[in-house]
Amino acid sequence: MTLSQETFARLADVAVRVGVNVQPGQKLMVMAPLEAADLVRAVAVKAYEAGAHDVLVHWSDEKTRRIRLLMAPDAALADYPLWLARGFEELADAGAAFLSVASANPELLAGVAPARVAAATLAEQKAVERFKSYLMGGRVAWSIVSAPTPGWARKVFPGLAEDEAVVRLWGAIAKASRVDVEDPVAHWREHARRLADRAQALNRARIRRLRYRAPGTDLSVDLPAGHRWMGGAGPNAAGTAFMPNIPTEEVFTLPARDGVNGTVRSTMPLAYGGVTIDNIALTFREGRIVDFTSDTARETLATLIETDEGSHRLGEVALVPVDSPISSLGILFYNTLFDENASCHLAIGRAYPFTLEGGEAIETDEELVKRGGNVSLTHVDFMIGSAAMDVDADTADGRSLPILRGGRWAAPF
Ligand code: ZN
Ligand code: ZN
Repeated sequence: MTLSQETFARLADVAVRVGVNVQPGQKLMVMAPLEAADLVRAVAVKAYEAGAHDVLVHWSDEKTRRIRLLMAPDAALADYPLWLARGFEELADAGAAFLSVASANPELLAGVAPARVAAATLAEQKAVERFKSYLMGGRVAWSIVSAPTPGWARKVFPGLAEDEAVVRLWGAIAKASRVDVEDPVAHWREHARRLADRAQALNRARIRRLRYRAPGTDLSVDLPAGHRWMGGAGPNAAGTAFMPNIPTEEVFTLPARDGVNGTVRSTMPLAYGGVTIDNIALTFREGRIVDFTSDTARETLATLIETDEGSHRLGEVALVPVDSPISSLGILFYNTLFDENASCHLAIGRAYPFTLEGGEAIETDEELVKRGGNVSLTHVDFMIGSAAMDVDADTADGRSLPILRGGRWAAPF
């Protein structure tokens, strides 16, 4: 086996056995770009070995996507094939697992009118809303992994020839995804345990409010009663433990949708909708974004924040230390799957119901809002962590606890 075939096999093994944790007799749906075909084939082998009933693949091609967004009539962009959305729902109802390969070229849509991208995105979000709620509610097992693509690799390593950049990116993905170790599956089970322990320590602290301080950031985030810190794997409705992101280094919960106040500045570019948004600053009052700026792509940032009412509010607060293995690589990935695991982050948009005690039983948006959670068609993480960040907590019993100091965990976390 060549080095990259070996890496495909190891990543595929982790994706199948830890990520979606395919069960005997289960169907697996893989959503992937054409460039990830080698990884997808390796996934199919591992899935059948694990006893999968069948492996289905939905291929995408971002170059065709760019052509469509440049050339299709406006009215076409408001259409999303409903048979496709229904197909995903049908598979979810039948208990299938879902694996996505996230490898977008962060510059793919440079030069495409933001309003056209926003129209197509909104049409898709509306069509797949029900299916997405299955994923976010943890009803089915799902996971996201990455494989390098030439366009993405060029952006991460602009000084290298394309072939070399792809090889370097594979190396970085393998390291960040913790598959460059002796027994990746065993290593991942241990890693998941460590993240779950940290989440438990935060749950025991009974935090009422987090206070963030860093250059350009002075933010307080209330956590609703009954919030639950999560980390590592979670069980789906069938009781199967799955790991939604490979890699993952975060512990996270939800903010009170009306309890965020102050200003926060992003510390890494956000690759969103095929463009890169730099130096985002958001100002919140009672949970709502009342002002926003960015050095680049402000118009694209506006289309994100103006998706709906809920996209003016936060749905996730996640803590990641600056000495996580991914930040130690010192690489800006321009891919949220990696960058969010190198940095504390927040998400604009929908909260995960399972970040509330008993959240598995929450069935409607109204219930989620009543418990303090946010609802939206969107959920987009943006990075705010740095070695200059301190985070403190006010607890339910009136103490003040250091959580992060200089971007690293304070004792006992
Ligand atoms: Zn997160
Ligand atoms: Zn998120």
